[in-house]
Amino acid sequence: MSQTKLAKTTLGFFPTPLVPLKNLSRLLRGPEIFMKRDDLTGLALGGNKTRKLEYILGDALAHNADTIITAGAAQSNHCRQTAAAAAALQLECHLVLGGKAPEIPTGNLLLNQLFGSHIHWAGKHRKGEDIPQLAKELQKKGKKVYVVPYGGSNSLGATAYVEAMIELHNQTVVDELSHIIFASSSGGTQAGLMVGKKQLGITPKIVGINIDKDESGEISFHDRILVLANETATLMNVNYHFSQQDLHLNSDYIGEGYGVIGELEKEAISLTASSEGILLDPVYTGRAMGGLIDMIRKQEIAPGEKVLFWHTGGTPALFAGET
Ligand SMILES: *Cc1c(COP(=O)(O)O)cnc(C)c1O
Repeated sequence: MSQTKLAKTTLGFFPTPLVPLKNLSRLLRGPEIFMKRDDLTGLALGGNKTRKLEYILGDALAHNADTIITAGAAQSNHCRQTAAAAAALQLECHLVLGGKAPEIPTGNLLLNQLFGSHIHWAGKHRKGEDIPQLAKELQKKGKKVYVVPYGGSNSLGATAYVEAMIELHNQTVVDELSHIIFASSSGGTQAGLMVGKKQLGITPKIVGINIDKDESGEISFHDRILVLANETATLMNVNYHFSQQDLHLNSDYIGEGYGVIGELEKEAISLTASSEGILLDPVYTGRAMGGLIDMIRKQEIAPGEKVLFWHTGGTPALFAGET
Protein backbone atom coordinates (compact mmCIF):
# COMPACT_ATOMS: atom_id res chain seq x y z
CA MET A 1 0.00 0.00 0.00
CA SER A 2 1.13 3.52 -0.72
CA GLN A 3 -0.45 5.02 2.42
CA THR A 4 2.92 5.50 4.09
CA LYS A 5 3.98 8.20 1.65
CA LEU A 6 0.96 10.37 2.50
CA ALA A 7 1.63 13.11 5.02
CA LYS A 8 -0.79 12.90 7.91
CA THR A 9 -1.26 15.08 10.94
CA THR A 10 -3.05 14.18 14.18
CA LEU A 11 -6.29 16.01 14.95
CA GLY A 12 -8.68 13.49 16.52
CA PHE A 13 -8.87 10.46 18.81
CA PHE A 14 -9.19 7.07 17.18
CA PRO A 15 -10.64 4.47 17.09
CA THR A 16 -14.10 5.96 17.64
CA PRO A 17 -16.51 3.77 19.64
CA LEU A 18 -18.77 1.16 18.07
CA VAL A 19 -21.99 0.74 20.06
CA PRO A 20 -25.18 -1.34 19.78
CA LEU A 21 -28.45 0.63 19.74
CA LYS A 22 -30.45 -2.03 21.61
CA ASN A 23 -33.35 0.20 22.63
CA LEU A 24 -33.88 1.61 19.16
CA SER A 25 -33.67 -1.90 17.64
CA ARG A 26 -36.32 -3.14 20.10
CA LEU A 27 -38.55 -0.10 19.53
CA LEU A 28 -38.54 -0.64 15.76
CA ARG A 29 -38.84 -4.44 16.05
CA GLY A 30 -36.26 -4.49 13.32
CA PRO A 31 -32.68 -5.58 12.70
CA GLU A 32 -29.91 -5.21 15.24
CA ILE A 33 -28.62 -1.66 14.80
CA PHE A 34 -25.03 -0.68 15.58
CA MET A 35 -23.58 2.80 15.49
CA LYS A 36 -20.03 3.92 14.65
CA ARG A 37 -19.58 7.09 16.66
CA ASP A 38 -17.69 9.46 14.35
CA ASP A 39 -19.54 12.23 16.14
CA LEU A 40 -16.90 11.50 18.78
CA THR A 41 -13.78 12.02 16.66
CA GLY A 42 -12.77 14.49 19.33
CA LEU A 43 -11.92 17.68 17.46
CA ALA A 44 -14.20 20.51 18.59
CA LEU A 45 -17.45 18.48 18.83
CA GLY A 46 -16.36 15.93 16.27
CA GLY A 47 -17.60 14.68 12.92
CA ASN A 48 -16.42 12.92 9.79
CA LYS A 49 -14.36 15.86 8.48
CA THR A 50 -11.80 15.37 11.28
CA ARG A 51 -10.58 12.15 9.67
CA LYS A 52 -10.31 13.75 6.23
CA LEU A 53 -8.53 16.82 7.56
CA GLU A 54 -5.77 14.71 9.10
CA TYR A 55 -4.70 13.86 5.54
CA ILE A 56 -5.60 17.13 3.82
CA LEU A 57 -3.98 19.41 6.37
CA GLY A 58 -1.07 16.98 6.66
CA ASP A 59 -0.56 17.72 2.97
CA ALA A 60 -0.99 21.48 3.58
CA LEU A 61 1.78 21.37 6.21
CA ALA A 62 3.99 19.34 3.88
CA HIS A 63 3.55 22.17 1.34
CA ASN A 64 4.50 24.78 3.96
CA ALA A 65 1.11 26.48 3.77
CA ASP A 66 0.38 29.16 6.36
CA THR A 67 -3.17 30.00 5.25
CA ILE A 68 -6.07 27.74 4.39
CA ILE A 69 -9.35 28.46 2.63
CA THR A 70 -12.44 26.33 2.49
CA ALA A 71 -16.14 26.78 1.81
CA GLY A 72 -19.56 25.56 2.83
CA ALA A 73 -23.03 26.44 4.02
CA ALA A 74 -23.44 28.84 6.94
CA GLN A 75 -23.86 25.87 9.32
CA SER A 76 -21.17 23.75 7.64
CA ASN A 77 -19.67 21.14 9.94
CA HIS A 78 -16.77 20.85 7.53
CA CYS A 79 -15.95 24.54 7.96
CA ARG A 80 -16.22 24.32 11.75
CA GLN A 81 -13.85 21.34 11.94
CA THR A 82 -11.46 23.02 9.48
CA ALA A 83 -11.48 26.21 11.58
CA ALA A 84 -10.75 24.21 14.74
CA ALA A 85 -7.98 22.22 13.06
CA ALA A 86 -6.45 25.44 11.72
CA ALA A 87 -6.43 26.87 15.24
CA ALA A 88 -4.74 23.73 16.57
CA LEU A 89 -2.12 23.85 13.80
CA GLN A 90 -1.76 27.64 14.00
CA LEU A 91 -2.75 28.23 10.38
CA GLU A 92 -4.73 31.28 9.24
CA CYS A 93 -8.21 30.10 8.23
CA HIS A 94 -10.62 31.72 5.75
CA LEU A 95 -14.16 30.38 5.35
CA VAL A 96 -16.30 31.26 2.34
CA LEU A 97 -19.85 30.69 3.53
CA GLY A 98 -23.15 30.65 1.66
CA GLY A 99 -25.79 33.21 2.61
CA LYS A 100 -25.28 36.41 4.55
CA ALA A 101 -24.24 37.25 8.08
CA PRO A 102 -27.07 36.59 10.54
CA GLU A 103 -27.71 39.06 13.35
CA ILE A 104 -26.88 36.47 15.99
CA PRO A 105 -24.44 33.70 15.04
CA THR A 106 -25.46 30.27 16.35
CA GLY A 107 -24.34 26.64 16.11
CA ASN A 108 -21.32 26.00 13.93
CA LEU A 109 -21.10 29.64 12.92
CA LEU A 110 -20.67 30.77 16.51
CA LEU A 111 -17.88 28.22 16.91
CA ASN A 112 -16.12 29.42 13.73
CA GLN A 113 -15.78 32.82 15.37
CA LEU A 114 -14.35 31.32 18.54
CA PHE A 115 -11.68 29.54 16.48
CA GLY A 116 -10.62 32.90 15.08
CA SER A 117 -11.43 32.12 11.46
CA HIS A 118 -12.03 34.88 8.89
CA ILE A 119 -15.53 34.63 7.46
CA HIS A 120 -16.45 35.76 3.92
CA TRP A 121 -20.15 35.75 3.00
CA ALA A 122 -20.84 34.55 -0.53
CA GLY A 123 -24.62 34.73 -0.98
CA LYS A 124 -25.81 31.89 -3.24
CA HIS A 125 -22.29 30.50 -3.61
CA ARG A 126 -22.06 27.86 -0.89
CA LYS A 127 -19.75 25.48 -2.71
CA GLY A 128 -16.62 27.56 -2.96
CA GLU A 129 -17.26 29.38 -6.24
CA ASP A 130 -15.56 32.49 -4.79
CA ILE A 131 -12.40 30.76 -3.54
CA PRO A 132 -10.11 31.42 -6.56
CA GLN A 133 -10.58 35.19 -6.24
CA LEU A 134 -9.93 35.16 -2.49
CA ALA A 135 -6.88 32.91 -2.94
CA LYS A 136 -5.43 35.44 -5.41
CA GLU A 137 -5.94 38.32 -3.00
CA LEU A 138 -4.30 36.46 -0.12
CA GLN A 139 -1.38 35.36 -2.31
CA LYS A 140 -0.82 39.00 -3.27
CA LYS A 141 -0.43 39.69 0.45
CA GLY A 142 2.32 37.06 0.58
CA LYS A 143 0.30 34.24 2.14
CA LYS A 144 1.07 30.64 1.29
CA VAL A 145 -2.45 29.54 0.51
CA TYR A 146 -3.78 25.98 0.53
CA VAL A 147 -7.35 25.31 -0.57
CA VAL A 148 -9.22 22.57 1.27
CA PRO A 149 -11.81 21.17 -1.17
CA TYR A 150 -15.55 21.44 -0.53
CA GLY A 151 -16.47 18.88 2.15
CA GLY A 152 -12.85 17.72 2.30
CA SER A 153 -13.75 15.43 -0.56
CA ASN A 154 -10.76 14.74 -2.72
CA SER A 155 -8.85 11.47 -2.87
CA LEU A 156 -6.65 12.50 0.07
CA GLY A 157 -9.72 13.11 2.25
CA ALA A 158 -11.41 9.91 1.08
CA THR A 159 -8.30 7.95 2.04
CA ALA A 160 -9.25 8.60 5.65
CA TYR A 161 -12.45 6.61 5.17
CA VAL A 162 -10.57 3.69 3.65
CA GLU A 163 -8.63 3.72 6.89
CA ALA A 164 -11.86 4.12 8.90
CA MET A 165 -13.26 0.99 7.27
CA ILE A 166 -10.16 -0.89 8.39
CA GLU A 167 -10.70 0.55 11.89
CA LEU A 168 -14.26 -0.82 11.87
CA HIS A 169 -13.01 -4.17 10.58
CA ASN A 170 -10.72 -4.35 13.63
CA GLN A 171 -13.69 -3.72 15.96
CA THR A 172 -16.25 -6.21 14.71
CA VAL A 173 -17.05 -8.98 12.27
CA VAL A 174 -18.04 -6.68 9.40
CA ASP A 175 -19.25 -9.50 7.19
CA GLU A 176 -22.13 -10.03 9.64
CA LEU A 177 -23.41 -6.57 8.68
CA SER A 178 -25.91 -6.49 5.81
CA HIS A 179 -25.71 -2.71 5.34
CA ILE A 180 -23.60 0.28 6.32
CA ILE A 181 -25.78 3.40 6.20
CA PHE A 182 -24.70 7.04 6.49
CA ALA A 183 -25.39 10.56 5.24
CA SER A 184 -23.70 11.31 1.92
CA SER A 185 -23.09 14.73 0.45
CA SER A 186 -19.77 15.70 -1.08
CA GLY A 187 -19.03 11.97 -1.37
CA GLY A 188 -15.63 11.53 0.29
CA THR A 189 -17.01 9.37 3.05
CA GLN A 190 -18.84 7.12 0.62
CA ALA A 191 -15.93 6.86 -1.83
CA GLY A 192 -13.55 5.96 1.00
CA LEU A 193 -15.85 3.30 2.45
CA MET A 194 -16.34 1.81 -1.04
CA VAL A 195 -12.59 1.54 -1.55
CA GLY A 196 -12.16 0.15 1.98
CA LYS A 197 -14.74 -2.53 1.23
CA LYS A 198 -12.82 -3.61 -1.89
CA GLN A 199 -9.45 -3.48 -0.17
CA LEU A 200 -10.71 -5.75 2.62
CA GLY A 201 -12.87 -7.93 0.36
CA ILE A 202 -15.87 -7.61 2.68
CA THR A 203 -19.59 -7.91 1.94
CA PRO A 204 -21.77 -5.20 3.59
CA LYS A 205 -23.78 -3.04 1.19
CA ILE A 206 -22.48 0.53 1.46
CA VAL A 207 -25.53 2.81 1.25
CA GLY A 208 -25.24 6.59 1.28
CA ILE A 209 -28.38 8.54 2.06
CA ASN A 210 -28.23 11.55 -0.23
CA ILE A 211 -29.02 14.69 1.74
CA ASP A 212 -28.61 17.33 -0.96
CA LYS A 213 -30.58 18.10 -4.12
CA ASP A 214 -28.19 17.93 -7.00
CA GLU A 215 -28.73 21.08 -9.03
CA SER A 216 -26.70 19.69 -11.91
CA GLY A 217 -28.85 16.54 -12.06
CA GLU A 218 -28.58 13.34 -10.06
CA ILE A 219 -26.43 11.57 -12.63
CA SER A 220 -23.53 13.91 -12.12
CA PHE A 221 -23.77 13.44 -8.35
CA HIS A 222 -23.38 9.69 -8.83
CA ASP A 223 -20.59 10.23 -11.31
CA ARG A 224 -18.68 12.48 -8.94
CA ILE A 225 -18.63 9.81 -6.23
CA LEU A 226 -17.52 7.18 -8.75
CA VAL A 227 -14.71 9.39 -10.04
CA LEU A 228 -13.62 10.01 -6.47
CA ALA A 229 -13.77 6.30 -5.60
CA ASN A 230 -11.61 5.49 -8.62
CA GLU A 231 -9.09 8.24 -7.83
CA THR A 232 -8.91 7.02 -4.23
CA ALA A 233 -8.42 3.42 -5.34
CA THR A 234 -5.51 4.56 -7.54
CA LEU A 235 -3.95 6.55 -4.69
CA MET A 236 -4.26 3.54 -2.37
CA ASN A 237 -3.08 0.98 -4.95
CA VAL A 238 -6.40 -0.86 -4.80
CA ASN A 239 -6.69 -2.55 -8.15
CA TYR A 240 -10.40 -2.19 -8.92
CA HIS A 241 -12.50 -0.05 -11.22
CA PHE A 242 -15.76 1.19 -9.69
CA SER A 243 -18.84 1.49 -11.90
CA GLN A 244 -22.53 2.32 -11.37
CA GLN A 245 -23.37 -1.11 -9.95
CA ASP A 246 -20.97 -0.53 -7.05
CA LEU A 247 -22.64 2.71 -6.00
CA HIS A 248 -25.71 2.79 -3.75
CA LEU A 249 -26.83 6.38 -3.26
CA ASN A 250 -30.40 6.58 -1.99
CA SER A 251 -32.09 9.85 -2.97
CA ASP A 252 -35.53 9.00 -1.51
CA TYR A 253 -35.18 11.19 1.58
CA ILE A 254 -34.08 14.58 0.23
CA GLY A 255 -37.50 16.10 0.93
CA GLU A 256 -37.47 19.84 0.30
CA GLY A 257 -33.69 19.93 -0.16
CA TYR A 258 -30.48 20.63 1.73
CA GLY A 259 -31.02 21.71 5.32
CA VAL A 260 -34.82 21.91 5.07
CA ILE A 261 -35.99 20.02 8.13
CA GLY A 262 -39.17 17.96 7.90
CA GLU A 263 -41.04 15.35 9.95
CA LEU A 264 -38.61 12.61 8.85
CA GLU A 265 -35.63 14.32 10.47
CA LYS A 266 -37.56 15.47 13.55
CA GLU A 267 -38.85 11.98 14.32
CA ALA A 268 -35.43 10.36 13.80
CA ILE A 269 -33.72 12.91 16.04
CA SER A 270 -36.22 12.56 18.87
CA LEU A 271 -36.46 8.74 18.63
CA THR A 272 -32.68 8.36 18.78
CA ALA A 273 -32.34 10.89 21.57
CA SER A 274 -35.17 9.48 23.71
CA SER A 275 -34.31 5.81 23.20
CA GLU A 276 -30.51 5.95 23.26
CA GLY A 277 -29.47 9.33 24.69
CA ILE A 278 -27.59 9.99 21.44
CA LEU A 279 -27.86 13.24 19.50
CA LEU A 280 -28.18 13.43 15.73
CA ASP A 281 -28.12 16.60 13.65
CA PRO A 282 -30.95 18.10 11.59
CA VAL A 283 -29.16 18.34 8.19
CA TYR A 284 -27.26 15.07 7.76
CA THR A 285 -27.54 12.33 10.37
CA GLY A 286 -31.19 13.10 11.23
CA ARG A 287 -32.10 12.64 7.57
CA ALA A 288 -29.96 9.50 7.18
CA MET A 289 -31.41 7.92 10.34
CA GLY A 290 -34.89 8.87 9.13
CA GLY A 291 -34.07 6.95 5.95
CA LEU A 292 -32.84 3.93 7.91
CA ILE A 293 -35.96 3.92 10.10
CA ASP A 294 -38.16 4.06 7.00
CA MET A 295 -36.26 1.19 5.35
CA ILE A 296 -36.71 -0.84 8.53
CA ARG A 297 -40.44 -0.11 8.66
CA LYS A 298 -40.78 -1.15 5.01
CA GLN A 299 -38.74 -4.29 5.83
CA GLU A 300 -36.19 -3.41 3.17
CA ILE A 301 -33.86 -4.16 6.07
CA ALA A 302 -35.41 -7.05 7.96
CA PRO A 303 -35.37 -8.37 11.52
CA GLY A 304 -32.54 -10.87 11.88
CA GLU A 305 -30.13 -8.69 9.92
CA LYS A 306 -27.42 -6.53 11.46
CA VAL A 307 -27.04 -2.99 10.19
CA LEU A 308 -24.49 -0.30 10.97
CA PHE A 309 -25.36 3.39 11.07
CA TRP A 310 -22.21 5.46 10.66
CA HIS A 311 -22.76 8.63 12.71
CA THR A 312 -20.92 11.38 10.85
CA GLY A 313 -21.41 14.14 13.45
CA GLY A 314 -23.00 17.53 12.99
CA THR A 315 -24.62 18.02 16.38
CA PRO A 316 -23.67 21.74 16.75
CA ALA A 317 -26.30 22.45 14.06
CA LEU A 318 -28.93 21.40 16.63
CA PHE A 319 -28.21 24.74 18.29
CA ALA A 320 -28.81 26.72 15.13
CA GLY A 321 -32.43 27.14 16.15
CA GLU A 322 -34.12 25.29 13.28
CA THR A 323 -35.34 22.22 15.15
C1 LIG B 1 -20.08 16.54 5.62
C2 LIG B 1 -21.02 15.69 6.38
C3 LIG B 1 -21.55 14.52 5.82
C4 LIG B 1 -21.32 14.08 4.41
O1 LIG B 1 -20.04 13.56 4.20
P1 LIG B 1 -19.41 13.64 2.74
O2 LIG B 1 -18.11 12.95 2.85
O3 LIG B 1 -19.31 15.09 2.42
O4 LIG B 1 -20.33 12.96 1.80
C5 LIG B 1 -22.38 13.74 6.60
N1 LIG B 1 -22.68 14.09 7.86
C6 LIG B 1 -22.20 15.22 8.43
C7 LIG B 1 -22.62 15.55 9.81
C8 LIG B 1 -21.35 16.05 7.71
O5 LIG B 1 -20.89 17.17 8.28
